[in-house]
Amino acid sequence: MQKGNIVIIGSGLIGRSWAMVFASGGFRVKLYDIVKEQVSAALEDIRKQMEELKKSDMLRGTLNVDEQMSLISGSTELKETLEGAVFIQECVPESLELKRKIFSEIDLHINDETILSSSTSCLSPTKMFNGLKHVKKCIVAHPVNPPYYVPLVELVPHPETEAATVEKTYELMKNIGQSPVKLTKETDGFVLNRLQYAVISEAWRLVEDGVISPRDVDIVMSEGLGMRYAFLGPLETAHLNAEGFKSYCERYGEGIKRVLTTFGPVPEFSGQVAESIDEALWDGELNKEDQLNARRDWRNACLSRLAKLKNEM
Ligand code: NAD
Repeated sequence: MQKGNIVIIGSGLIGRSWAMVFASGGFRVKLYDIVKEQVSAALEDIRKQMEELKKSDMLRGTLNVDEQMSLISGSTELKETLEGAVFIQECVPESLELKRKIFSEIDLHINDETILSSSTSCLSPTKMFNGLKHVKKCIVAHPVNPPYYVPLVELVPHPETEAATVEKTYELMKNIGQSPVKLTKETDGFVLNRLQYAVISEAWRLVEDGVISPRDVDIVMSEGLGMRYAFLGPLETAHLNAEGFKSYCERYGEGIKRVLTTFGPVPEFSGQVAESIDEALWDGELNKEDQLNARRDWRNACLSRLAKLKNEM
């Protein structure tokens, strides 16, 4: 895909991150929002984030902060923003109605080559893109928060999305240093969240049954399973833990099935268990917003160092 004219629709948390990732890859980015103040706040915040990244030697790409900033411009005029767009990444709030409204507007102003991609976490491509004139050019590119540090992007087509749209989006994501995967069809929750929800529900049930505390269940992941999972998926982990995956199934299949039959029902995700997990995760009387911000900064620092390590391996 030729360089230039990436359009980001919605300049919130995810829109800002996408803008930074595209600019780090040398692409010209137009950042659009309906709220004028949101655009100027986004540009200010992006510069601040880039300067922090530069200080800690974590700025992505080969361009310096000023060069990357000069690639990003803001706008509140949709039609003008879309002129010459080769790729549009939508990042408005997670509402089917809102996304359909903005897609039908965009559909009027783009040519047959422009790719229209949504950041949705869990809305169905079929429901979002049905009926659009440019449906063949529509796709979901679901990032993981924060996309600047976590490179996975799930690509999910609408049934009418043409193969070239998937391939071009895949290549573009590789080009900007993300790690795309292709789903061949949509499934509720895509893949990352289906895996994540399986883990969250079993963590919930173990706490609910009094087997382990909320803090300790998190340690099982961060000091145990997660150590491997930063480098290997569950299937290759199994493959390496025996003489190949088939051998793993022969050795451990019966035991796994026995344990799986003891899994409980889908949790309610409300009530006393939610209260007690929430309480366990706060750190005493300290201001809650400060706690969240400090832990998020720490998480981002860990993730960026991990990303560096993975690149070196
Ligand atoms: P956000 O609330 O931070 O930002 C949304 C932005 O969209 C705001 O700046 C708002 O002013 C703007 N907006 C609202 N209506 C608009 C319109 N009609 N036209 C243009 N701009 C409009 O939301 P977010 O967290 O950045 O999420 C955006 C999308 O990314 C959602 O679909 C979400 O599910 C998805 N996503 C979020 C995360 C996450 O962790 N936050 C992770 C992956 C995907």
